[in-house]
Amino acid sequence: MEPKYEVNNINLLHEGADAIIQNLYDFVGGTEYIKINDVSFFKKTLLRADIAWGDDCNEHQEDKFRRFCNSILDDLSEMFNYCVVYKIKNNGIEHWDCIKQSLPEFINTQKMKHEKKKKCDCFSSTARCQCFQVSYVEAQTYLEKEKTSYLLCHHIFERKWLNVLGLPMPGRERVYSLKNPIIQ
Ligand SMILES: [Zn+2]
Repeated sequence: MEPKYEVNNINLLHEGADAIIQNLYDFVGGTEYIKINDVSFFKKTLLRADIAWGDDCNEHQEDKFRRFCNSILDDLSEMFNYCVVYKIKNNGIEHWDCIKQSLPEFINTQKMKHEKKKKCDCFSSTARCQCFQVSYVEAQTYLEKEKTSYLLCHHIFERKWLNVLGLPMPGRERVYSLKNPIIQ
């Protein structure tokens, strides 16, 4: 089986890195749907995260992992620029709300709701119909980019990895660090 992704620097044996990449992949439905000019959001985000991880073998892995997490978190805000719609004849348009659902969840919801009425294979890569469309629109949000990223982080980051980003675990006063363990 062909690997889903390739990286140069990221240690895929790192439990957090591997799971975060997989979560990102699952959130956007892989490389097929969310892309501009044939460059997929997933690949671009992973490439930037790979560069952020870096290749300094003397550096503590925790610092690499933190930069990797921050890079992915930063790039998440771009998802709000993707307009993903599913058109249903006479019934208007359904929009994917990326805060609420992953893209595969949205697709499955639409399939369950409308499959019987449709004769076309709307979501396949060889679809001939125009029912399902993805376009790129610079969203004119009044929120700071950073804040919009946090709206999506629940899809990607488990609670324990937010600790690495600087938010202490529930009930803890300080973040836990493998570099400077705090005995509590
Ligand atoms: Zn269709």
